[in-house]
Amino acid sequence: MEMILIIAIPLAFILLLAGFLVVAQVSGFVQSTYFNNRQRLSNTIIQQYVEKIALAQTQIFQRSKQLEVLSGKLSLSNQELAQLNDMKSKFLSMAVHDIRTPLASIRGFGELLIKKKMGEKEDKYLHHIVSATNQLNRLISDLTDLAMIEAGKLKMEKAIFNFPEMAKDILPGISINAQKKGVELMVRNSPDGIVVDGDKFRLSQVLMNLLNNAIKFTPVANKVELFFKQEGKYITTFIKDSGIGIHPTETKKIFGKFYQAKYQKDEKLRKQGWGLGLSISHEIVKSHNGEIGVTSRGLDKGSTFWFKIPLEKNSAIIS
Ligand code: ADP
Repeated sequence: MEMILIIAIPLAFILLLAGFLVVAQVSGFVQSTYFNNRQRLSNTIIQQYVEKIALAQTQIFQRSKQLEVLSGKLSLSNQELAQLNDMKSKFLSMAVHDIRTPLASIRGFGELLIKKKMGEKEDKYLHHIVSATNQLNRLISDLTDLAMIEAGKLKMEKAIFNFPEMAKDILPGISINAQKKGVELMVRNSPDGIVVDGDKFRLSQVLMNLLNNAIKFTPVANKVELFFKQEGKYITTFIKDSGIGIHPTETKKIFGKFYQAKYQKDEKLRKQGWGLGLSISHEIVKSHNGEIGVTSRGLDKGSTFWFKIPLEKNSAIIS
């Protein structure tokens, strides 16, 4: 019996160990097969991604080549455009110069003949000729200013001067326009001691443009008001009219070159201008480190144009 026990216990032990080893081997095999499969799948996915990245890189390379070609073409067209722009500016200043001289003689002879009192009908025609030459002269000076702005040659000749005095100087001429049109021009205030360092001729051009526009776009028997406000280190000039007003979407656009408001219905008024005055005024005010703008409550509700320029730095600030 003892003998049997001595042999059976180690034998059972050995059998148990062998069984354990077999189970361990089989489960290890299953595990490694599972991991191998996953590894293969991941490798395939990575391979696909690598291929996609390679394809994308080739496409990016092709696109960047195309982009290079396009930017080459663009810089060529930019050069051509700059040349064309230069030619346009030169043509404009030459044409303007050549038109001025004959126009001055047409106007001169027209005025001479008016003085000769040739007859009622003839006088009427001659007045038409003179007023048409005046209109052309205005266009020519606007085009000259535009050419100078585009060439960066519109220089301000600054000097210190009394700002409201400058306004007083131009008012007699403007009042005549207002009277002819049948619009009342009111100057609400003219503050003393407001001194600015600016180009008197150019700033009076801005004021004249805004006042003439206000008269032009205001119906007969209505009024245009001019007033000034000193705000801190600035003087702001207001030109308020009770005219045809401006649509809210156009209050900024009208300061662009050749822009005339599209919502305004009066074709006749539009034909009297070229949409240049405000853009030139904007440039002049900008050259004085100032601002220009308009507020309007809408069509047929009048407009208030304003421009603001800094006072001369030693000018007394009256609060
Ligand atoms: P122009 O008067 O010669 O057309 P401007 O540059 O002076 O050119 O003005 C541009 C446009 O702005 C005008 O055509 C008009 O549509 C609008 N505008 C200017 N001033 C007034 C105003 N006081 N009231 C209403 N619209 C105005």
